[in-house]
Amino acid sequence: MDLSYGSEYGVFRQQVRDFIEANRDQAPAAGARGPAGLAWQKLLIDNGYHSRTVPKAYGGYGAAPDILASRIIAEEFSAAQLSTGLGGQGISMLTPMLLEMGSEAQKLQFIQPTILGEMVWCQGYSEPGAGSDLASLTTKAELDGDEWVINGQKIWTSTAQSADWIFCLVRTEPQAPKHQGISFLLFRMDTPGIEVRPLVDMTGDANFNEVFFTDVRVPKHQIVGERGQGWQVANAILGHERGSLAPPDAAENRLKGIIKLMETETLDGQRIMDNPIFRDRLMKLQGASLAMRFNDMRLLSARINPGQDARLAGLIVKLQGTELRHEIEGFAIDVMGEIGLAYEDNPYLRGNGSWQYQYMYYLGLIIGGGTSQIQKNIIGERGLDLPREPKVTAN
Ligand SMILES: Cc1cc2nc3c(=O)[nH]c(=O)nc-3n(C[C@H](O)[C@H](O)[C@H](O)COP(=O)(O)OP(=O)(O)OC[C@H]3O[C@@H](n4cnc5c(N)ncnc54)[C@H](O)[C@@H]3O)c2cc1C
Repeated sequence: MDLSYGSEYGVFRQQVRDFIEANRDQAPAAGARGPAGLAWQKLLIDNGYHSRTVPKAYGGYGAAPDILASRIIAEEFSAAQLSTGLGGQGISMLTPMLLEMGSEAQKLQFIQPTILGEMVWCQGYSEPGAGSDLASLTTKAELDGDEWVINGQKIWTSTAQSADWIFCLVRTEPQAPKHQGISFLLFRMDTPGIEVRPLVDMTGDANFNEVFFTDVRVPKHQIVGERGQGWQVANAILGHERGSLAPPDAAENRLKGIIKLMETETLDGQRIMDNPIFRDRLMKLQGASLAMRFNDMRLLSARINPGQDARLAGLIVKLQGTELRHEIEGFAIDVMGEIGLAYEDNPYLRGNGSWQYQYMYYLGLIIGGGTSQIQKNIIGERGLDLPREPKVTAN
């Protein structure tokens, strides 16, 4: 069996390598936003290495979907340890949803500045009484002339402190059954009446926030879909979020980092790499990581083949990918022995403490975007045809 990508893709791979070679000096650190990050983002889009299939009319590269080309780009950037550009909720979640469900005016207004990294978004879904049971949300929006007037509170809103805009679920039809009474609004974060209060998580950073709305006025047309259709829009987005939370190439890169650690760290004078128990654990993680890579190809293929359902593969990325990343980072901490427990400004830190940071961060991602328990419920019901979970009735 020939598992190579074929000669046509050999030419494409060489083009990607040439681009990397010619431009690697300009690449910023992964996720960096400043002027260098934005210039890199534009260069990637102009050359088809980011927003590759977003139509040119909306600022993308406009290529036809091609799984192997996407894989080659991911592989080459990963091998070169170069930033693949910006991510975040606007790019990985809102943009694909707008392409599917947004109006033409919304596509023209929002997609280009979002993919260029000039317009940063946050996602206002969860509330103190609505997380896994998101449809119980109570933040309300009432129509007053040509404006929605929003009152209520969101919580765990990632990047709200630095976002320019929010995509937000609000209750607009209080009399309707709970899933049918929700609408999906887009508005600026500097609209009067919005207060953001950062929440510090266990990493020591404020990665998410509480967001309070008091009589926030939003133009009526800033709704995606119709009134009461917010649940369908939110579900379309969640599919993209779940598929994007733990990309397999990042996991593979972390494993490469662990191999270096295992070659340098020692236990009782012996290299960790020569310890059979640690080698066994490494192999298990490599196997799981390879399985995630094949699931990623399934996800890409399902997204471009009409009739195939990409949602299940996305749920598996969310469930297995986030848990795998947490396990990988935890394994590195074990490899480092007692140094693994160091954090913050300890002089013996390896990799600037990124292993410890990511270990805690990925614990959060196992919860964010729908907890592992919820993913298992959905995979069981929709993927394996198991009976639906019994509904809890209110007393
Ligand atoms: C790092 C991080 C970033 C986040 N970013 C955002 C964001 O940007 N925007 C946003 O809107 N939200 C965000 N969230 C919120 C996230 O979506 C919610 O935390 C998540 O949906 C769970 O809701 P909850 O915290 O209310 O927990 P709950 O729903 O109260 O769940 C508590 C526990 O009960 C379990 N549970 C609940 N229902 C069931 C069930 N039916 N079957 C089995 N077990 C169940 C859960 O798995 C969990 O273990 C973020 C969360 C984290 C941790």
